[in-house]
Amino acid sequence: MNDRTALVTGANKGIGKEIARQLVAEGLTVHVGSRDAERGRRAVREIGGGARLLVLDVTDADSVAAAAAQVERLDVLVNNAGIMVDGRTAPEADLDGFRRTYETNLFGVLAVTNAFLPALRRSAAPRIVNVSSGTGSLTWSADPDHQFAVSAGAGAAYRSSKTALNALTLFYAQTLAPEGFKVNALAPGLRSTDLNARAAASDGDPAEGAAGAVRLALLPDTGPTGGFFSWDGTPAAW
Ligand code: NDP
Repeated sequence: MNDRTALVTGANKGIGKEIARQLVAEGLTVHVGSRDAERGRRAVREIGGGARLLVLDVTDADSVAAAAAQVERLDVLVNNAGIMVDGRTAPEADLDGFRRTYETNLFGVLAVTNAFLPALRRSAAPRIVNVSSGTGSLTWSADPDHQFAVSAGAGAAYRSSKTALNALTLFYAQTLAPEGFKVNALAPGLRSTDLNARAAASDGDPAEGAAGAVRLALLPDTGPTGGFFSWDGTPAAW
């Protein structure tokens, strides 16, 4: 199958751009989702080949509807767009930061996924990858000795939005399994990007995290659904 198409949200930079680049290298035509047309055009130029601009703000219902109207069939949806705007823990957090985080990281995924479901249903092998985070793992958050213990930071809004995204992943996976969908969540690992500048010293290349998304995007029919995986393919703890 070399006429496969993908959409990666928030693909104008960071991990999303790398996911788009790697999917193009695999021979897919990739809609590069970007809320800003110029930033998106720049990414499309840099990726080249089968990259196409799709202007898409995941928090804007009109933008989501307009983007979905442009895509007839979709084989792969990668819900990658995400923000981390408030690094505070729960007692100090403000409601506005929480709401904005959930608008993008959770409600954005719901809106985009539902809008593109008709296009995904036209695929012979539909795949959805939700770019989550190891910090969204309740198991790891609760373990004071773990790298992603609550005390390690990253903020209650961001972390809990990813926990909720993991839950949403299970709902889509189990509901859509009879139709042949594979829906999985990814923990891409700490990566040096604009979202997570603090990782620069200790952590890795966004391309390595992106490879984990590409693996889930290209799963064979025998592959898993309803899973939460680290970037290297090992199961992540819920
Ligand atoms: P970046 O900040 O580099 O990229 C985020 C992307 O999301 C940008 O393209 C940004 O667009 C886009 N975006 C933000 N809001 C919207 C919106 N409303 N509509 C459409 N696009 C939007 O971050 P990363 O590449 O690091 O993050 C990508 C994903 O990986 C996120 O979901 C993040 O939570 C997750 N992740 C990242 C980790 C890391 O260490 N970096 C670790 C674990 C998970 P714009 O340029 O316009 O702002």
